[in-house]
Amino acid sequence: MPPASVVSVPEKSYDVIVIGAGIAGLIAAAYAARGGAKVCVLESNHQAGGLMAGIWRKGFYFDVGDQSFEQGNVLFPLLKQLGIYDDLHFLRARYRLKTPNIDVNILGPADLPRAFAEAFPAQAAATYAFFDEMHADLAHLLPLLREDHNPIMHDGMSSIAATGRLMRDVAMNAPRLWRLLHTRGSARAAHFYDEGSDVFDFFQRMGYRNMSEFVWLGFMHSWWEDYWYPVGGIQTMFDRLERLVLDLGGQIFYKRAVTALTVEGQRRLRVTGVRTAKGDTIQGGRVIYTGDMKALYQNLLPAHPSLDATRQRVLAGSCARLFANASHVLFSALQHPQSARNDGIRFARAGLGRDQRAGDRSRKCPACAAGSECNRAANNGQGGVA
Ligand SMILES: Cc1cc2nc3c(=O)[nH]c(=O)nc-3n(C[C@H](O)[C@H](O)[C@H](O)COP(=O)(O)OP(=O)(O)OC[C@H]3O[C@@H](n4cnc5c(N)ncnc54)[C@H](O)[C@@H]3O)c2cc1C
Repeated sequence: MPPASVVSVPEKSYDVIVIGAGIAGLIAAAYAARGGAKVCVLESNHQAGGLMAGIWRKGFYFDVGDQSFEQGNVLFPLLKQLGIYDDLHFLRARYRLKTPNIDVNILGPADLPRAFAEAFPAQAAATYAFFDEMHADLAHLLPLLREDHNPIMHDGMSSIAATGRLMRDVAMNAPRLWRLLHTRGSARAAHFYDEGSDVFDFFQRMGYRNMSEFVWLGFMHSWWEDYWYPVGGIQTMFDRLERLVLDLGGQIFYKRAVTALTVEGQRRLRVTGVRTAKGDTIQGGRVIYTGDMKALYQNLLPAHPSLDATRQRVLAGSCARLFANASHVLFSALQHPQSARNDGIRFARAGLGRDQRAGDRSRKCPACAAGSECNRAANNGQGGVA
């Protein structure tokens, strides 16, 4: 069970009310509390974590949400700024792509093209050209994700400078970005493969329906470079974030669903607080909502002409379906069983044995012997996190 908040009933008023104790809510709450604001987090679930959460049942830990996450050069810098990065031990999460004719552990950028070339030898040249183009696109995109390009990582003038760098590099890459955002990944495959070939068929089915090349590239890059998993289970990260918020003087209330936002104003509405299912009416100088956008417009915001157009657009949007039409593709998370055992966690999932893992094992992390594949190896100046 999560530790209870210092108090069990919310006060009447806070500087900042955060709705939701997922990753976004807890990080927002931590920053606000660190900045001196009086903060409360209201979460409808019984614990933190949101869609990423894990649960304990009868001594077993289960990841019921994400199996890993891509940190995208955002999460780790944020955790560092908040001073808890070194308290957590992240391992690279490795994935295996298994289909009737492909079975590959994705340990680096070269593994997928090699596996596809071996599985579809008649299309090998096209495969290498296709992946070369992805690498070229990524070489232009990844600098945009650097910390010095991200305004939210900085304060004051430094944030403005980061925005300037980002805008400049977005402008320089505008044609490429436009193409990546407006071309479906599957349509891109058509430039390289004969339509009707097995490999073309495979790429047509891969990913979300109508997923853009941009998102596709994001997945590819994450598979080979940027999926992470905290030793002890994903929930350990939330336990630490939750403790941080409480240590900073914030308050967290579970099983406290927000049922309405209170608003003020005639022509322009301003959110002034929330009402909860338990009957609390709480005022907030600022209200940060991290839940579902549709629920926000459908259930929480009042009817008002100024919201009608946006409400219609939001409610008309369809939810992406993960890996739609790819039922024959099985991606299974390959976590690091040794460290999991060290931590006393019994995982209800198969792991990849250390002897099966390829790659550079020479740079060991003293804490887990995971080579360069954990954040602590990086901390010791031995590689790891890019
Ligand atoms: C099937 C699936 C697989 C995914 N796989 C991955 C992955 O492999 N890697 C990865 O990086 N990301 C993955 N994601 C995305 C990842 O889960 C989300 O990016 C992340 O959870 C977003 O965090 P959040 O805090 O914004 O929202 P959430 O995790 O949704 O948290 C929002 C919180 O707000 C609470 N809440 C909502 N409304 C209210 C209310 N009215 N009152 C009180 N509380 C409220 C919710 O209970 C929840 O705890 C996946 C998502 C899905 C759906």
